[in-house]
Amino acid sequence: MLNETDILPDGLLEADATDLLELLGSPTLIHLQGKRPEPLFISTLLHGNETTGFYAIQQLLRDNQNKALPRSVSIFIGNVEAAAAGQRRLEHQPDYNRIWPGTHHDDCAETDMMRTVSNIMYKRNPFASIDIHNNTGLNPHYACVNILNSHCIQLAGMFGSTVVYFTSPRGVQSAAFSDFCPAVVLECGQSGQADGVSHSTRYLQAVLNTEKLHSEHPVHLRLFHTDARVTVPEIYSLGSYDGADIRLNQELENMNFDQLGTGSVFATVKADSDARLVVTNESNENVTDEFFEVEDSKIVLRKNATLSMFTTNEKAIRQDCLCYLMEQIHIG
Ligand SMILES: [Zn+2]
Repeated sequence: MLNETDILPDGLLEADATDLLELLGSPTLIHLQGKRPEPLFISTLLHGNETTGFYAIQQLLRDNQNKALPRSVSIFIGNVEAAAAGQRRLEHQPDYNRIWPGTHHDDCAETDMMRTVSNIMYKRNPFASIDIHNNTGLNPHYACVNILNSHCIQLAGMFGSTVVYFTSPRGVQSAAFSDFCPAVVLECGQSGQADGVSHSTRYLQAVLNTEKLHSEHPVHLRLFHTDARVTVPEIYSLGSYDGADIRLNQELENMNFDQLGTGSVFATVKADSDARLVVTNESNENVTDEFFEVEDSKIVLRKNATLSMFTTNEKAIRQDCLCYLMEQIHIG
């Protein structure tokens, strides 16, 4: 299932993300040699419709053509089948960012592949790992970490001043790699936007040029901890039409990374319906009642929380979640 190569495949620098299935045939790990041997690992297209990382890698490699890379690079191009279809994942596939070591997903060919990629990279002693994503709602660019050590935070702070720390969901690439190198996830806004590509290209180049990470925490960092994940049970219909079990408050899509106060309205439920949103904490316990109550057919917050990744895109909600609820934390 996995291709592994030490040479840049022909046509890769010119390809569209939708061409990669034809060009590569399957998920591909590419090792390119540079001056410093410990590679920078870059992962992209774990979600097939999140193309910013792939185009940033293309730009990075074009910018470094005809000269030696400052350090070796290993690039993992993930779900090329879903990328060909412009989807996060295909219906028959697992989510490629929930099946890395540490996952609770059943064993399958894809979990084997991610274990293989992790083992290969572990032996190569990576300098750092960067996994690049987009989100569906409107969010600022930010980096995420799964472990609060100073090198992870420094790596995240090089991308921007907003950093999110999360430990759930399990089975994400960055958490697996955090076991053996500093690892971050970049969230680069919505897919297809040029500023996401240019920002991540600049960031990749800066990390590539970095000889050593330091222990001092970058100043001016806004650090958030993801407390809870909000989902919509499949049995309830979702939409903005009359008669939908749950009608979401569309305005929240513009309020990601804002602090919402008690009483903020998340959704309106159909009269006499028992439709609810479900909130789970990092231990996957149902903590809905801590966060939400229903007042006059409206689902409202019971306590202050900072919103992230809120989306009204039904497919994104069904395949992943409605949003996350966070609190700001202070370290150091
Ligand atoms: Zn993603």
